[in-house]
Amino acid sequence: MQRLLQYIGGEFVEPASGQWIDDIEPASGDVIAAIARGNADDVDRAVTAASASTWSSTTVHERADWLDAIADRIEAGLEDLARMESRDTGKPISLARGVDIPRAVSNFRFFAGLVRHHQDPSAMMADAINYTVRHPVGNVALITPWNLPIYLLSWKVAPALAMGNCVIAKPSELTPLTADALARLIHELGLPAGTFNLLHGYGAEVGAPLTAHEGIGAISFTGGTATGRQVAAAAEFRKLSLELGGKNATVVFDDCDLDQAIDGTLRAAFANQGQICLCGSRLLVQRGIYEQFRERFVAATKAMKVGDPAAADTRIGALISDAHREKVEGYLELARQEGGTILCGGERPDRAGFFLTPAVVDDLSINARCATEEIFGPVCTLHPFDSDEQAIAMANATRYGLSASVWTRDLGRAHRVSRRLECGMVWVNTWLHRDLRVPFGGIKDSGVGREGGKWSLEFFSEAQNICVRVDEES
Ligand code: NAP
Repeated sequence: MQRLLQYIGGEFVEPASGQWIDDIEPASGDVIAAIARGNADDVDRAVTAASASTWSSTTVHERADWLDAIADRIEAGLEDLARMESRDTGKPISLARGVDIPRAVSNFRFFAGLVRHHQDPSAMMADAINYTVRHPVGNVALITPWNLPIYLLSWKVAPALAMGNCVIAKPSELTPLTADALARLIHELGLPAGTFNLLHGYGAEVGAPLTAHEGIGAISFTGGTATGRQVAAAAEFRKLSLELGGKNATVVFDDCDLDQAIDGTLRAAFANQGQICLCGSRLLVQRGIYEQFRERFVAATKAMKVGDPAAADTRIGALISDAHREKVEGYLELARQEGGTILCGGERPDRAGFFLTPAVVDDLSINARCATEEIFGPVCTLHPFDSDEQAIAMANATRYGLSASVWTRDLGRAHRVSRRLECGMVWVNTWLHRDLRVPFGGIKDSGVGREGGKWSLEFFSEAQNICVRVDEES
């Protein structure tokens, strides 16, 4: 059986605990690898190794070349990595092949290009010149969840390395395979020892001591809101970026292109089994088209193929774990108790693995727990509305504020409604349409700070201003 070791100081090493965790394949329930069970001693070793690395003294151009080389290696291994990611997460191979791995390639290439061209503005005074120097923060802790493993890890690793920081990464122990593959290809490329360190293990045993370690200068965390609160408490005065949960509204107006809206909202609700922070799990539909929309949406939901993640035509793979499936089922039971009608889904197909058919729930109040709490599974709730004002109020009736999508042909309405939605990102007539240059992040309980483009470069560096007096000619 494959054993996933810690990667510390340029070497693959046993965990200090001598203990291992099972890596379970969601589509079968089988154990597919043994994962190092890290602890605070591993964290100490990794921080010491990172502090000794020569990475911060490399030039911007050298670092950009390394990032390009990493991107090339990932691209060369795309098919193997896609299979690995699909196997480890239960997600359809089409998603891993078409989105997760290509995005990891783009993340490294994009930040290589951006850092090569990044220049802070200088400010001229009559008698002085100001210019800004960017320094690395130092050692950065990057903590990522299981839903988009290499996609999110590379989203943090690339800008952190680009700005001259050393990385200590902690992926979810539920999905460690592609993080290990990334460590291996970085090792083969020969980045200076200690530049990139990878620690496997449980959040409480590795994540918590990592976020509290005095040798860490910045923490970039993506995960649930409850964990985010613990990370924020541990961070004290360190730089902190939190990308947390969501309960995102999809607002469908009666003047939308209905075919386009059904396609887009279906993808928004159920992509990756509904396990994306940006999924549109609350569907608000204008009353004039409510019945027609509901009928077509339910039919389209039932038509999605649920099954083997390795099959090319699978739309819905397995949920990440049995415990998570039980949590999702618990929410469906709660929906019934709250007066909801399950229009379809919520059933376990007759096969091994943690599968659940996608569910659509009607008749729930917008304030019901199932309509306000993050379920993070293949469940979406439908709610009718009458006016723009009502749609805005309903969309904002949650403690989360990550994203929303708005479906309408009326451009004026699209702009008016979008800017009043309390969230960090709005898509109009599309969903998860990403440009890596734009800011990414949420408000309210969905997070603190922005990453993406120049926001990532700024987060992973400290700006220093230097003001030089210019004497008048004597
Ligand atoms: P999670 O339980 O919060 O875990 C996220 C990561 O934090 C994991 O690596 C976890 O390790 C680690 N961790 C746990 N306790 C910790 C602690 N005390 N200190 C430091 N690290 C700790 O989240 P998840 O269940 O993996 O992921 C699902 C959540 O992520 C959802 O809420 C989703 O919305 C959110 N998410 C947000 C975004 C975004 O961009 N806003 C993107 C994707 C996902 P263990 O695995 O060992 O617990």
